[in-house]
Amino acid sequence: MLFNIQKFSTHDGGGIRTLIFFKGCPLRCPWCSNPEGQSFDYDLFFNKRKCIGCLECVKASKEGEFQTSGKGIVINRERIKNPLVFKDICPAKAIQVIGEKIDLKRLMGDIEKDKLFFNKSGGGVTFSGGEPFAQPNELLALAKAIKTRGISTAVETCMDVPWKDVEDTIGVIDEFLVDLKHVDAKRLKEATGSDFGQVEDNLKKLENRKISLTIRVPVIPGFNDNPTDMREIIDFVSSLTNVRELQFIPYHSYGKNKYSQMGLDYTYPSGTVDKKYLDGFANYAKTKGLKTNIGG
Ligand code: SF4
Repeated sequence: MLFNIQKFSTHDGGGIRTLIFFKGCPLRCPWCSNPEGQSFDYDLFFNKRKCIGCLECVKASKEGEFQTSGKGIVINRERIKNPLVFKDICPAKAIQVIGEKIDLKRLMGDIEKDKLFFNKSGGGVTFSGGEPFAQPNELLALAKAIKTRGISTAVETCMDVPWKDVEDTIGVIDEFLVDLKHVDAKRLKEATGSDFGQVEDNLKKLENRKISLTIRVPVIPGFNDNPTDMREIIDFVSSLTNVRELQFIPYHSYGKNKYSQMGLDYTYPSGTVDKKYLDGFANYAKTKGLKTNIGG
């Protein structure tokens, strides 16, 4: 299942890229800017401010999923058993069902339309998420289909996935962009649920295979943004011999709105990390022989 396709991106790999977002992730990072990418099932956005009061959603609600109240339309999420009932029902797009099953043929037709842009810019397709390797069969089939058509591929991954799923894609995925959030196993586990042992193991195996990596470190306030933690992360990255570039990705809270549209709380502060603050980290990484980039 996918939750978004974004065309003409110039981030997340070289050149002009189409980003394909896989739905579902084994981690639960509280700063995640794509909360709709976490669940492997359909999600439902409800943006009350867009509501024009037509009551189409109430009419479609057999179990009282949407109801009228003194404050306008209210959503009773616990009653929603089948979100697809509400797909395309709202003329004001106040309700959006997130998630779409992969239709390989249709998707390939869409991707091929941009082949000229990919070839001219050195771009291609990047699989993102969620966690693309959490749907290994779908990822492999899609990557193979794209490579067969002479289009370059990249994957953005947390690497907390079974090695076999990664290994199967070697040769059909050209670029690995690895989101490395921390190297302190306890802190990583507590904050995100991720198993650093598995991440490290996969990184070492990719190093043994001489697969070059772009490592992306999200710089998160109160989690890894202090000099001690960041030095540890940089030291670990510099110990790998296959890192093409280390990128520092400043935290932002742009996903905050999505949380409220999903009926969830966003627990991180609003704002961003100043890119200038990251210069010190980048300078340290350079002394360790790493090529660096701030912002991805
Ligand atoms: S269908 Fe959309 S616009 Fe109409 S009442 Fe429901 S939320 Fe509001």
